[in-house]
Amino acid sequence: MKLTADIIAIGSELLTPHRTDTNSLWLTERLNSIGIEVMQKTIVGDDEQRLEHAIRDSLRRSDLIISTGGLGPTEDDVTRKVFARVLGRQLTLDYDVLETIRERFASRGYQMAPNNERQALVPAGATVLPNQNGSAPGLTISHESKFIVLLPGPPREMRPMFEDQIMGELENRSRGTRIARRTLKVTGLGESALDELIAPIYGQYSNPQTTILFTNCEIEVHLTATADNLSIAERLLNELSEKLKGKVGDYIYSTAGESIEEVVGRGLAEKGHTIATAESCTGGLIAERITEVPGASRYFLGGVVSYTEDVKTKLLGVPQEMIERRGVVSGEVAEAMARGIKESTGATIGLSVTGIAGPGGGTVAVPVGSVYIGLSDDLVTSNRRLMLMGDRQLIRWRTSQAALDMIRRRYLG
Ligand code: ATP
Repeated sequence: MKLTADIIAIGSELLTPHRTDTNSLWLTERLNSIGIEVMQKTIVGDDEQRLEHAIRDSLRRSDLIISTGGLGPTEDDVTRKVFARVLGRQLTLDYDVLETIRERFASRGYQMAPNNERQALVPAGATVLPNQNGSAPGLTISHESKFIVLLPGPPREMRPMFEDQIMGELENRSRGTRIARRTLKVTGLGESALDELIAPIYGQYSNPQTTILFTNCEIEVHLTATADNLSIAERLLNELSEKLKGKVGDYIYSTAGESIEEVVGRGLAEKGHTIATAESCTGGLIAERITEVPGASRYFLGGVVSYTEDVKTKLLGVPQEMIERRGVVSGEVAEAMARGIKESTGATIGLSVTGIAGPGGGTVAVPVGSVYIGLSDDLVTSNRRLMLMGDRQLIRWRTSQAALDMIRRRYLG
């Protein structure tokens, strides 16, 4: 049966900038893996009224309600009390649970504080989930057609409790529904241009569902298929992603969740290429991204951050006269830098960047965002001019992205 879930993360600290609700991300991944779709996540402070409202709302919507947090021993830990009230169940002290909590303290040489008695309060009809990693036990309650799970807040307590005591039960309940996902990673196309291309295709499918996400300078197309079993779900994904690939072509650089640095690195290694970089306005960012991938020494020889004209002439052999005649941000200089780094390192490909990331330094002829990327191999040396938008950080990032993509398209196609 296809099940739906709501997650309620409880704790006033989660509404401050100091704590992030990571529990619901983790739970969503686990639920999705057994075909359960999350309909809504709510973060609510330690406030009885607002929690009550959130629980009632979730009960109207989903088959399964999972809360985390607020099971502690203090006055502001209201989870047990409010769930019991909403579900119309009496809270009573469970002496077995109390004894377990008391023993847990005793085994560490502590005496249980009277406050901790609260953690042994159990709503009528609930099942207690022992906590191997903390004092607060969890609870499950079957209520009419709904299944309710109350878990402690700390991830190191919540995760094993869910994994060992809840996952199997949910897997049984959701038998016959599986969710599969795929991400198509796109670079070099704007968001609206991409959507114009693919909306007529994905618009015909309600399953898989399509979501488009825009990051720094990449677009991710997320496909989610739901079916009776995984192989049918995968088949649905294959069908739609093949159609999308047919339309978008090589703007898609990965369908397997890899970064562009990984795709470029793998391609260079497979083709036996080696690469070296000469970077000006990116200050080593391209080398940093390439070397983020483990094993990059198979294809990355090294790089020079040639920020000043002097270093461009001395270390890369760019003629001073060329810089004066053409300007340091020019196609000729980019090519000379690429040739220079290729020759001095013996790489099969030299890659260079010279540009103006701003905010200052632009001119009418060469405004902020002007970037030249040079590529040099055994046969040709060439350059490409880009006009990039954004602030300094974004221009630098987009430059590194374009450079990696040029390598992918030129040498790995
Ligand atoms: P315990 O009594 O064992 O502390 P609890 O259920 O009362 O359990 P809380 O007091 O609500 O848990 O939270 C304890 C800590 O757990 C928080 O300070 C926070 O660091 C972490 N935590 C709580 N909720 C979340 C969440 N949704 N995501 C990530 N961490 C969380």
